[in-house]
Amino acid sequence: MSATLDLCCELISRQSVSPDDAGCQEIMCKRLEALGFTIEHMPFGRVSNVWARLGDTAPLLCFAGHTDVVPAGDTTKWGSNPYIPEVREGRLYGRGAADMKGSLAAMITACERLLANGPVNGSLAFLITSDEESVAVDGTRRVMEVLQERGEKIDYCIVGEPSSSDTLGDVIRNGRRGSLNGTLTVHGTEGHVAYPDLANNPVHRFLPALSELCSVRWDQGNAYFPPTSFQISNIHAGEGTNNVIPGALKALFNFRFSSELTEDDIRSRTEAIFDRHYSDYTLEWQLSGNPFITAEGVLTDAVAVAIKKVTGTQTMLSTSGGTSDGRFIAPTGTQVVELGPCNKTIHKVNENVRVEELDQLSFIYQEIMQSVLA
Ligand SMILES: [Zn+2]
Repeated sequence: MSATLDLCCELISRQSVSPDDAGCQEIMCKRLEALGFTIEHMPFGRVSNVWARLGDTAPLLCFAGHTDVVPAGDTTKWGSNPYIPEVREGRLYGRGAADMKGSLAAMITACERLLANGPVNGSLAFLITSDEESVAVDGTRRVMEVLQERGEKIDYCIVGEPSSSDTLGDVIRNGRRGSLNGTLTVHGTEGHVAYPDLANNPVHRFLPALSELCSVRWDQGNAYFPPTSFQISNIHAGEGTNNVIPGALKALFNFRFSSELTEDDIRSRTEAIFDRHYSDYTLEWQLSGNPFITAEGVLTDAVAVAIKKVTGTQTMLSTSGGTSDGRFIAPTGTQVVELGPCNKTIHKVNENVRVEELDQLSFIYQEIMQSVLA
């Protein structure tokens, strides 16, 4: 059994449903301590975080990841117990195998092999949290605040999120789109459908505005981002009767936006459209993340070369997918790349990772360290 597979199994056996760490970080810390890392626990509320560092010179290369997993869902649909790792036909099954205990294991074993050959130029660090899959308030964000307060700067960061699509390393993420949520309530006047003059139908009032919003071309995107997209996720009015004009309409919507737009641009353009159609509404905004990007450079090059060397694959830069903890790290000027296993089964029943992929990932991480800290 490979060291990476072994460690990944050990982590999967811990039922660390977000935001619980269930002892995963302790397993990792023991290994890092043995390598000479200085360990700092930074718990906030129920969330466990670790900042582990080896060396005090620049540049600093940091591995970032999370030990928490999403719930297993309907466990009767799993081919094996999601918290008892099982290898079948070359694949390791278990919750977190791909997102992202496999990456965590590969990061640790990569450091172990590298440091067995002697010290590195520069420093290595691990930023591990148990709060990525839920609200992500007391995790990476808080650790980054502590680091910034004391002026500790991460130069390069590899986030272990499962970035790959069909084969390991075919896709890496060098940024993410922004995500902005809107909660809209359109106010009208309830009444009998037979007496529309005595009512004010918020559905009729507002459909044209929503329809216009759906057809807007917000931007063209740019070299790194696809065009901004607007999606309505929920819409509700009426109580299920067919003779009452509803008194209110509620809608939830989301923007996934490129770096061509700011939160303020989107808010003002959206509100201008609404105001043109009808003014009696309330609108609440919630920003889940601004877009961030790492331009092609030292880190993206090192990652691409390492992937090519280990797997033969020519990687592709991408900013698609949901947001990630990279959003808390990149704004400090850190070059951030996400590289992890194939993401086809993440958050699903029978989550799995190819055993071979785990070993390859560990060798890719090692190559990246060798190249960036040469
Ligand atoms: Zn993840």
